[in-house]
Amino acid sequence: MFLFRKEEGIHDFVQKRKEEGLRVAFVPTMGALHDGHMSLIRKSREIADAVVASIFVNPTQFDNAEDLLKYTRSVAADCRLLKAESCDAVFVPDVDEVYQEGKGLPVDIDLGTLGKVMEGKFRPGHFEGMMQVVRRLVEMVEPNDLVMGQKDFQQVAIVRRMLHHIGRQDINLVVCPIRREAHGLAMSSRNERLDPALRQGAKIIHETLQMAHSKAPDTDFDGIMEEAMSVLNQEPFKPIYFEIVDGHTLERLKNWEDADYIVACTAVWAGEVRLIDNMILKKP
Ligand code: AMP
Repeated sequence: MFLFRKEEGIHDFVQKRKEEGLRVAFVPTMGALHDGHMSLIRKSREIADAVVASIFVNPTQFDNAEDLLKYTRSVAADCRLLKAESCDAVFVPDVDEVYQEGKGLPVDIDLGTLGKVMEGKFRPGHFEGMMQVVRRLVEMVEPNDLVMGQKDFQQVAIVRRMLHHIGRQDINLVVCPIRREAHGLAMSSRNERLDPALRQGAKIIHETLQMAHSKAPDTDFDGIMEEAMSVLNQEPFKPIYFEIVDGHTLERLKNWEDADYIVACTAVWAGEVRLIDNMILKKP
């Protein structure tokens, strides 16, 4: 596996393969990799001839300095995992490489509802930072496929809108299902910060999503959301939001008839750790 720290290196690597007629898939990450990330690498292997991952902890995406500091960094361990999954190259730029003068500027786009609800409401600036870095990484790597996780449902919806806005529909956005721990908790780098009891107890998040999924189609969503908020509200857990939204627009819905694509999304404090999860309730 190759490791590149500079734009030129990764760009040449990808261009060479594309000139040979090969397809290149790209998996951007913030490191501290786990099997959720690896499922994206495996999907990339399936759909492309060469797989590139990146590890970059984007400072502009964190609204909370402490959260950024707590983000575990372990590039050597991450590289071992990537190599074991036959990833072909990993791109590990530093902050200056990404935010060079005149490059990596913010994306000038009004996201409307997509950026205002759920994570957008509670983490100001988060999606602006995310779009800025995903765009820059995509422009440095120039892949055929951009492979991301449904775990960050709102992120994927925003990246789709952004690619459209910057005229990059040539990049194929591939969304992979959420990988979960055995008891249902969505895999996340943040799970490492939960003590064993909290980690076990956090299965309540998945169970609550399943509860929403199991409700009869005639149950109104306000009732489900209320019930979910109350189930999740038990020490040491504290729900931040539980919303049932249109999977395309992220507008809040009232009932099953309101849309062809319906998703339940939630964010919950587990002690000091902020966790997010979601479940598709109705597929388009
Ligand atoms: P992150 O390093 O947290 O920015 O995540 C990098 C990519 O991995 C994003 O596209 C995430 O949605 C995806 N990802 C994170 N956790 C999971 C998971 N449990 N299952 C599937 N994909 C995931």
